[in-house]
Amino acid sequence: MKTVAVIGAGTMGNGITHVFAQMGCKVHMVDISREALDKAVAKIASNMDRQIAKNLLTEEVKQNAVNNIKTYTDMAEAVADADLVVEAASENIDLKIKIFQELDRLCPPKTILASNTSSISITRIGSYTKRPKQVIGMHFMNPVPVMRLVEIINGYATDAEVTQTVYDLTKALGKVPCVVNDYPGFISNRILMPLINEAILALQEGVAGVEEIDTIMKLGMAHPMGPLQLADFIGLDTCFSIMNVLHMGFGNQKYAPATLLCNMVQAGYLGAKSGEGFYKYTPGSKELVVSERFASKQWKM
Ligand code: NAD
Repeated sequence: MKTVAVIGAGTMGNGITHVFAQMGCKVHMVDISREALDKAVAKIASNMDRQIAKNLLTEEVKQNAVNNIKTYTDMAEAVADADLVVEAASENIDLKIKIFQELDRLCPPKTILASNTSSISITRIGSYTKRPKQVIGMHFMNPVPVMRLVEIINGYATDAEVTQTVYDLTKALGKVPCVVNDYPGFISNRILMPLINEAILALQEGVAGVEEIDTIMKLGMAHPMGPLQLADFIGLDTCFSIMNVLHMGFGNQKYAPATLLCNMVQAGYLGAKSGEGFYKYTPGSKELVVSERFASKQWKM
């Protein structure tokens, strides 16, 4: 893979760009927002500085990686010579279908089209293209430079050769690939999201507070991060979209998103990326501060 195009420069797009650029690929990062692209490039540079400080990267590799990245607001130019496209735009089925139709029209016939979707059917996305055999899920985890897993999702029509190529590429990136079939939420989010949704339901019902729920899961179940903090980190809009995909895909009420989650998303409280979710985020501070909306003391002794 010499040239990789990454569609979307948000939380995941910047991480995916980071790892491909560090590996030596030319990366064309595309977003509808120039501001998002500039922010992503700055974030990649600062994340690489952190790797340098930990002796995980040299200044030379960083410079080469940064030079490998080009940013675009025009998709046609960005994907014209791409060997692989990894789409990491917002988790919205209509948006993804539109992007894949456009990619199918603009990319050379050889190009593999991968989606970083957390839950949307790869088979469905592929069915809107003329190359469903070359459409696959490449589900990176957040934060991409740190997390080793890539869940590879085989659409019903995905070619075994394409799966093998993406599998080998994932290994070359230093990640661990796991291949799964195309069912709502795949494996990762079929199991993770109901856990997060249940934590939100418990909060909504007043069973316990934000700190108590997260502490119980961290200290009691050895989770490195509590489910509410993780939801903030993933983005509450993304969590909400994934729950809707599970709910519709399985037709089972047990996957209905919590009303509190729905309200928070509608009000724009999206977690870390918007500055407030279950916790409040101040740029430059790592202190975990529960949002005052949930700061009731009724559970505390
Ligand atoms: P995000 O909201 O941080 O970023 C999405 C970006 O897509 C934004 O910058 C937006 O401007 C851009 N965008 C929207 N429409 C576009 C278009 N037509 N062309 C180009 N760019 C466009 O979202 P995210 O958290 O990075 O999620 C991206 C994808 O990755 C989603 O499918 C999500 O489900 C998946 N994912 C997210 C996580 C996570 O922890 N956030 C983890 C794994 C997978």
